[in-house]
Amino acid sequence: MQPGTLVNGQPATLGVMGGGQLGRMFVHAAQAMGYYTAVLDPDPASPAGRVSHHHIQTDYLDEQGLAQLMQRCAAITTEFENVPAPALFTLGAHRFVAPASDAVAIAQTRAVEKAHVVKCGVPVAPHAVIETAAQLDAVADELLPGILKTARLGYDGKGQVRVPTRAELASAWAGLGQVPCVLEKMLPLQAECSVIVARSGGGKTVNFPVQRNLHRGGILAVTEVHAGAIEPRLALQAIEATKAIAEGLHYVGVLCVEFFVLAGGQLVVNEMAPRPHNSGHYTLDACDQSQFDLQVRTLAGLPLTQPRQHSPAIMLNLLGDLWQESGSDPDLRSKLGSDPNSCPPWDQVLALPGTHLHLYGKLSARKGRKMGHLNITGDTPEGVRDTAMQACALLGIEPF
Ligand code: ATP
Ligand code: MG
Repeated sequence: MQPGTLVNGQPATLGVMGGGQLGRMFVHAAQAMGYYTAVLDPDPASPAGRVSHHHIQTDYLDEQGLAQLMQRCAAITTEFENVPAPALFTLGAHRFVAPASDAVAIAQTRAVEKAHVVKCGVPVAPHAVIETAAQLDAVADELLPGILKTARLGYDGKGQVRVPTRAELASAWAGLGQVPCVLEKMLPLQAECSVIVARSGGGKTVNFPVQRNLHRGGILAVTEVHAGAIEPRLALQAIEATKAIAEGLHYVGVLCVEFFVLAGGQLVVNEMAPRPHNSGHYTLDACDQSQFDLQVRTLAGLPLTQPRQHSPAIMLNLLGDLWQESGSDPDLRSKLGSDPNSCPPWDQVLALPGTHLHLYGKLSARKGRKMGHLNITGDTPEGVRDTAMQACALLGIEPF
């Protein structure tokens, strides 16, 4: 539906399942185009719920909550890949839902996701499905050392255990509650990268440039997007692979595929996210359209045009850790460190050229919690990198 369309005397409303930071940035993009928004998330303080016209505070499977969302919204998307696929299926019977529940269901289960990727002609890490003790015993030696990952509901490295040898396998599985898992061979990584595409209902696919990602402790720490960040041959391959995966799902919406670049230069898929992705947050300040703008367009059935990156960019994730350890300056840290409400020195960070601060409005900072991100743009990759290093020093983020 066109922006500005009135429904019962009010602007058309776009809905989102999940009220995290991705939902918040979707809401901002939808509102900028004149839509009203509705968020379904049980948390009264959810980042997206706080900024939406409507906030339905129920569980994702609550029938009344889903009915209210459908009643309010012309179309509905999701911001969080663990929104139960059955809830999207219910919504999809009555409203336009993108991505569709079947695509989300595939991305929610690691083994099914890997099988889809392989079907699209793209390699994944060698792995085995572990649902029974017999399957655990039958694991091939070549998968060790490996990483045992729960088949469902993992994020930010949660639900994962590194397994150096076969001897640790049983205790690792017990530690994860013996839920269905995938054991993946530990691969020698030269780098990690990701690609975000948007695909319309008519099958047109557009893409952002390839993002080079640095993870620390299983959580994305830094994304760099500029000429030289990724070898052009690999970048092309990653974009083609992502488009093939989206095509194979008949996907509508924004999709991110994460890749490993192996020591030998080979590209394999790690996983996909059926939504905008943390590694695409730089698009808010470095591209002429953000990943959230494209999410709005795909949901509202508006045309897609190829987005253009106008500035080299680096994104630093701002984790809750920074609120406890403000700055690398020991004097500052001793002054602020014990106060959980103390903020990092934003005034100093924002004095650096080309810095764009995004905070998600979360009320408490916990270690590892994503509180916001800092985008840095500039004229040259060298200049952006130089500013990023200064920001890291001020914030106490390890340089890269
Ligand atoms: P996300 O928050 O991206 O959904 P997740 O919890 O699903 O994360 P993964 O993406 O599976 O976790 O893994 C997190 C990180 O751990 C990867 O980005 C990579 O750095 C490392 N890792 C995961 N699997 C492997 C592997 N098979 N070999 C080497 N490193 C790996
Ligand atoms: Mg990941």
